[in-house]
Amino acid sequence: MRIVLLGPPGSGKGTQAALLKQRLQVPHISTGDLLRAAVKAGSPLGLKAKAAMDAGELVSDELVLGLIEERLGQPDISGGYILDGFPRNLVQAEALDQLLSRLGQPVDRALELTVDEEQIVQRLAKRAAEEGRSDDTEAVVRNRLSVYHQQTAPVTGYYGERGLLVEVNGIGDIETINQRLVDALD
Ligand code: ADP
Repeated sequence: MRIVLLGPPGSGKGTQAALLKQRLQVPHISTGDLLRAAVKAGSPLGLKAKAAMDAGELVSDELVLGLIEERLGQPDISGGYILDGFPRNLVQAEALDQLLSRLGQPVDRALELTVDEEQIVQRLAKRAAEEGRSDDTEAVVRNRLSVYHQQTAPVTGYYGERGLLVEVNGIGDIETINQRLVDALD
């Protein structure tokens, strides 16, 4: 099953995708993780991505689409996958559609984790204290949320119009939310 996981920063996409990966036995593809790995490795792509990431802006579509195209060209995705953090704007959503229709493997379901803004700010402040991610500082978090509202929120409409979207309440304990996601795949 080919799944797109949507939701604002701090909505728990990464945590839930890791659990879904175990349950469904399909790869978890996170553009954020792929980009952070590129930054850490100091690759040319990482060097280009870093400034945008540190500012809480989106990395260019060209870079991210190249990364995704390469990842989706690997053989382990034949049984499906969970996309996390991608697509993040309408250009990426359309590009993904085109890529997947070329492969004859359309997205099966888009799951949107919904969490209110107050909870998100609290969760990200906690994560900043625990993990020290460089883009979890207050000013950058605020910018990531604003980028989400302006550029990423429309992606839920894109999948909604195609009848692929299911909204899932992202508040509760991790296992409960995971079960809600699994139920939403039926
Ligand atoms: P979060 O969802 O908590 O903001 P991610 O790990 O998904 O965290 O992304 C971290 C950063 O990586 C984003 O703020 C952005 O700069 C970059 N990024 C991740 N995915 C994309 C994407 N699909 N398009 C553009 N930039 C991206």
